[in-house]
Amino acid sequence: MADTDPAAEDLQQRGWKRYEELRPDELAELVQRTPVAFWPLGLIEHHGWHLPVGYDGLKAEQLCRRIATRTGGVILPVMWWGAGGGHDRFLWTHYQDPAATAAVLTTTARQLLQFGFRVLLLVAGHYPWQGLLDEHLPPLQREFDDRLLLWGTEVSLGGDAVKRAGDHAAREETSYGLALFPHLVKQGALSPGRGDSAWPAGRPPPEESRHPGVCFEPADPLFAQMGADARTASAERGEEGLALLVEHLASIVHAYLPAPEGGADPPG
Ligand SMILES: [Zn+2]
Repeated sequence: MADTDPAAEDLQQRGWKRYEELRPDELAELVQRTPVAFWPLGLIEHHGWHLPVGYDGLKAEQLCRRIATRTGGVILPVMWWGAGGGHDRFLWTHYQDPAATAAVLTTTARQLLQFGFRVLLLVAGHYPWQGLLDEHLPPLQREFDDRLLLWGTEVSLGGDAVKRAGDHAAREETSYGLALFPHLVKQGALSPGRGDSAWPAGRPPPEESRHPGVCFEPADPLFAQMGADARTASAERGEEGLALLVEHLASIVHAYLPAPEGGADPPG
């Protein structure tokens, strides 16, 4: 389960497809058989010294893969260009105009529903996506009221079934990273001693623009983190949360759509 190298995946066994790799005939067949689309929503943002800047999208994509292994369906390319958050002053962070992000979101989601997908699961790896989704998706759900639209972060989608709080690059996110893509996490990089070259133009942001709860001291191993110390993270902790989350979401999809014959898990 920890092996996330796509080249190592058994493409026959995985039960789901990459949207962009399919031909029209294949898509038409898939929509007949397993009309489920997953869309991982990410962002490029500083995630501490130990995690990749694409952490949020990578987390969302890997979570979609685990659920899709149970349900079948397609996974769209990660939507990397999200908006909003407390790390806009950090190097390597790209926040987009929320209106541009919302336009891509609503246009694409509507098209997927028009093309016949019956279940649309939008998994956001970055928490500020939640507000955008809550604002723009309810009208679409009303328009397509015979479809199942699910959206949120691993925290809101898991809810009472998982009971895990969110953080930023701290214990929870790092645990999920260690479970989902350990080859991209380097706990040994959580070391002290870096300086102001960590900031764009070598200057730290003024106090008043510092998001509360985020570590703004580059010399601190916990720089950019918000939450419990990432050095206390573990793959086991990540796997525990993931197992609950995947079970919860796969069972919702199965309850809505019977599993295809010879396909993924039986309902329930
Ligand atoms: Zn994150």
